Amino acid sequence: MSARLAGKTAVVTGGGKGIGEATCHRFAEEGADVVTIDWDGPAARETIEALADSHDGTFFDVETDVSDEAAVETMAAEVAASFESVDVLVNNAGIRVDPKPVTEADEESWDRILGVNLKGTAFCSKHLIPQMTDGGAVVNVASVGAGWARSAWSQYDATKGGIVSMTRDMACDHAGDGIRVNAVSPGRVVTDYHIGDRPPEEAATYVEEQTTRGAHPNSILQRAARPRELADAILFLASDESSFVTGVNIPVDGGKSVF
Ligand code: NAD
Repeated sequence: MSARLAGKTAVVTGGGKGIGEATCHRFAEEGADVVTIDWDGPAARETIEALADSHDGTFFDVETDVSDEAAVETMAAEVAASFESVDVLVNNAGIRVDPKPVTEADEESWDRILGVNLKGTAFCSKHLIPQMTDGGAVVNVASVGAGWARSAWSQYDATKGGIVSMTRDMACDHAGDGIRVNAVSPGRVVTDYHIGDRPPEEAATYVEEQTTRGAHPNSILQRAARPRELADAILFLASDESSFVTGVNIPVDGGKSVF
């Protein structure tokens, strides 16, 4: 099979770590030029250096807080100065706040999580979709929490539910321009957030345990995912293999949402 993103330019937010980092690697393997956006500049730079070490293509990073529209506008101008057009946008950057019921959540935490998860997705779309002059694909990263009842996660789940709704409407708005817009909803994916400050050997054992059947009995596969398993689903939605798929939210959750 020929490279699925050969000749394409992809912008991935939150590409410094976790699912975003794995997506940058997966896209580069499939021939894409990749722009990694992250507010953690050193993490984004590490991703880009790793891509440049192992793939041919144009790779660069832009340190950007996606919740800051002026910064997003500047980032989009940098992208425009380097590429004729953008083909793929992955709105992956996201944060969690301390889980609390709405009766205890304060305004600062609402502003923070709405700013990054929901407004960040909107701002990057607003300033990069106009560069999709030859059509393309947007993939928004939501969460299994968007369609699932659980205690104390109302803030995070509200932002992810908003992303799923926004995805459907964006798909309508941009279909005429040849742009498809879809979402993925990950279940538990073992990233640095879960690994924390475990030393490398302990971290490797932890990842192995978490991704082995039995670790998470409340799903069909009964395990967590590795970031690359999400990147594979994002690649499908970013590539022409999903040419008749738009406006949907694909659960990539080991069957958690149907269990
Ligand atoms: P992660 O924390 O490992 O990586 C997120 C990356 O986004 C980091 O590099 C971080 O610096 C960057 N980022 C955060 N806020 C940013 C901002 N304002 N501007 C620019 N960059 C920013 O997270 P992850 O687990 O890879 O999660 C990626 C996405 O997947 C998030 O949207 C998250 O909500 C979603 N998700 C993750 C899981 C999971 O179990 N890991 C489950 C469901 C959904």
